[in-house]
Amino acid sequence: MTKEISCRAAGVDCDFMVRSENEEELVSVAQQHVKNIHHGKISKADVLKTAMEV
Ligand SMILES: [Zn+2]
Repeated sequence: MTKEISCRAAGVDCDFMVRSENEEELVSVAQQHVKNIHHGKISKADVLKTAMEV
């Protein structure tokens, strides 16, 4: 199943969005984005909390 994560869904004013069938990839891409763009850190659990099935 495909899941989607976006900063907007997490309440952040940012156009980033990632969609993947691979959970590991989804989490990794989202974590990289948070680190590089928002200079923050997010746990795998928190990433998956904001993920939506699409
Ligand atoms: Zn963002």
